[in-house]
Amino acid sequence: MSDKTLIRSSPSSKSTRLFIPDLVYFEPGALEYPKGKQFMDFVTARGIEYRMTTSHNRVTNLPGETENEKYRIAKRTLVVGVRKTLDFDQSKPSADYAIPISTGCMGHCHYCYLQTTLGSKPYIRVYVNTDEILAKAKEYIEQKAPEITTFEAACTSDPVGLEHITGSLAELIRFMADEPSGRLRFVTKFHHVDPLLGLKHNKHTRIRFSINSDYIIRQFEPATSRFHERIEAAAKIARAGYPLGFIIAPIIWYDGWEQGYAELLQSLANALPDDAAQGLTFEMIQHRFTKTAKTIIEKRYPKTKLEMDVAMRKQKWGKYGRYKYVYPDEQQTALRQFITERIFEYFPSAKIDYFT
Ligand code: SF4
Repeated sequence: MSDKTLIRSSPSSKSTRLFIPDLVYFEPGALEYPKGKQFMDFVTARGIEYRMTTSHNRVTNLPGETENEKYRIAKRTLVVGVRKTLDFDQSKPSADYAIPISTGCMGHCHYCYLQTTLGSKPYIRVYVNTDEILAKAKEYIEQKAPEITTFEAACTSDPVGLEHITGSLAELIRFMADEPSGRLRFVTKFHHVDPLLGLKHNKHTRIRFSINSDYIIRQFEPATSRFHERIEAAAKIARAGYPLGFIIAPIIWYDGWEQGYAELLQSLANALPDDAAQGLTFEMIQHRFTKTAKTIIEKRYPKTKLEMDVAMRKQKWGKYGRYKYVYPDEQQTALRQFITERIFEYFPSAKIDYFT
């Protein structure tokens, strides 16, 4: 947690600022860990309001008059705790396991799946016992070695947006660098990658950027890094020698989508160093929603232009036992074909992992 990484950009630079919480809660035991003390130093040095709580489940009395105000405040509230459940969830198909270092996110992407999965607890949780989490990861690796075990660090959060406070990704990357059979991956919508650039990684960590057309980012992804910021950050990651990937998600059908996605791929090709194309991966996820998500989104972002008209969508049975709504086959095919062609036009040796 160096001071250098904590400098806020000046507003005139129009750079997305590093996240600084407005309110921090500490759970019991958190301050017994060096990382807990590090968080406390961070908080007191900046005069951030903090409270002690017996459990994150008791973080229910957040300030705010209306439900939406409480939601916005929760998104700027950090809960520092000890991760008790050390059995990792599976994270197929992207990785074998989800490695838990944080939950929740300060971003305000209208379509975000966390709106439903985190329910009434949208605050951000970070864990102080990284050593115990890494010891568990080592157990999983040893069970399967010499086969490779992969861990996804961004299943329930965007840890890059929190790295200047936690330093947890740096710990994971360094740890995985020395594990011949361990691999790490995570995805981000933030450009604050500078603390990761000089780390020893041995190419055991793949960093993916969640990207989209400039229009989609401006319309639907407030409080995340902008189009050009993410692309510049990806170029930095490529130059630092990390395996690199992109998730184009959610792919959205709108007036001008062809131009938007063509510009996206062209901008990537212009920004990335020539050798970055080697080993580059793409994942493509079309926009989908459930009826529950639609209700929550319309309440939290009442002015959203996100199209969620079930009559214009195709119903698909989801693995969580409810229907989700995706684009009809014809639109899916058009989106997939067009973007795939653009990818191979600029990056002929890239690999497309999936379109879903
Ligand atoms: S950055 Fe990712 S995790 Fe955060 S709000 Fe946006 S979609 Fe959700």
